[in-house]
Amino acid sequence: MTIEAAKRVRELPPYLFAAIDALKVEARARGVDLVDFGIGDPDLPTPAHIIEALYAGARRPANHRYPSYAGSLECRRACASFYRARFGVELDPEREVLTLIGSKEGIAHLPLAITNPGDLALVPDPAYPVYATTTRFVGGEVYRYGLRRDHEFLPDLDAIPGEVARRARILYVNYPNNPTGGAASREDLARILAFAEQHDLVLVSDLAYSEMFYEERPPSLLELEGARARTIEFYSLSKTYNMTGWRVGYAVGNATLVGALGKIKTNVDSGVFGAVQEAAIAALMGDQRCVDEMRAIYRERRDLLCAGLRALGLEVRSPRATFYVFVKVPGSSMDLTARLLREVGVVVTPGVGFGEGGEGFVRFALSVPAERIKVALERLRSFSFSS
Ligand SMILES: *Cc1c(COP(=O)(O)O)cnc(C)c1O
Repeated sequence: MTIEAAKRVRELPPYLFAAIDALKVEARARGVDLVDFGIGDPDLPTPAHIIEALYAGARRPANHRYPSYAGSLECRRACASFYRARFGVELDPEREVLTLIGSKEGIAHLPLAITNPGDLALVPDPAYPVYATTTRFVGGEVYRYGLRRDHEFLPDLDAIPGEVARRARILYVNYPNNPTGGAASREDLARILAFAEQHDLVLVSDLAYSEMFYEERPPSLLELEGARARTIEFYSLSKTYNMTGWRVGYAVGNATLVGALGKIKTNVDSGVFGAVQEAAIAALMGDQRCVDEMRAIYRERRDLLCAGLRALGLEVRSPRATFYVFVKVPGSSMDLTARLLREVGVVVTPGVGFGEGGEGFVRFALSVPAERIKVALERLRSFSFSS
């Protein structure tokens, strides 16, 4: 017998960011002071009242035992009250809310719950890689639909071939969008829902960036009449409350879809640490001024970086939401990323890492303080983008 990984592991696409990671390690070893816009992870600390709730929860012996699979009813109720206050959406905490070990966990397990071998899923290009990878893990097929800048990074649904749309079963959407910074209005979401209804698709909505906005408040798909019949939405505390390390999020929406995901999870994990659930309640039910402060900080960084890049002659659109600036660049995004790192110690993410549709762009994450953004802009003055 040959000892080897399963076919699905061997067939994983090459990890494009590994080359960047190697260059970073090498540059740091040479003593280069890197300004790292590569990390989609808030640099700011979790607000104090949330940390206090974790401390209190950690002292409670009931939390030292296995938590309930779906999350405590209080924790699911907190999500439902947040949805009521923020989106005007009523959720049944028992049937329409499931607590997750971070929303990535739920997104990754979802295909096990809803995708049969041969089912076709429509996945944006560029996109967070998890949707396509885990669909393929279960034998599902993936069709990548392009998000183009000349279409405001919104799905061009008419460009999806008719036979693809007819065969499809699942449609993934992510607004506000990583990596493009694109945002969808209620009307945009209504068009997406109408397409899903026309082709009888399951709608998967990744709402990780709902609170990182600078213009209008991003809507939830569940605000739309009829969406609940076919939509599962992923809500994350990670970016909103600087809690990426804590691993807590929610799946909400259609009870059949949420229930199916819950059944898979019952067979895989044992839920979220009770003290972390108490911290999540504190985050969702507590004072939301910390979120306003977070937005103000990212807005300042966004305006500084976008103005600075424009002054260098790049054509930059300020994102209306998320903490990503997706910049059109000449030539290969991978080559440019490597040159930026080597020549000026500035780390970005090549768009091609999110799919072919991201080629020709690099992503700057605003997880860098303003003073360091200024350092990077100063260095970029001596850098030639068109090699
Ligand atoms: C950060 C992110 C998530 C959320 O991840 P968590 O597992 O909740 O930390 C989900 N989707 C996208 C597109 C993201 O960028």
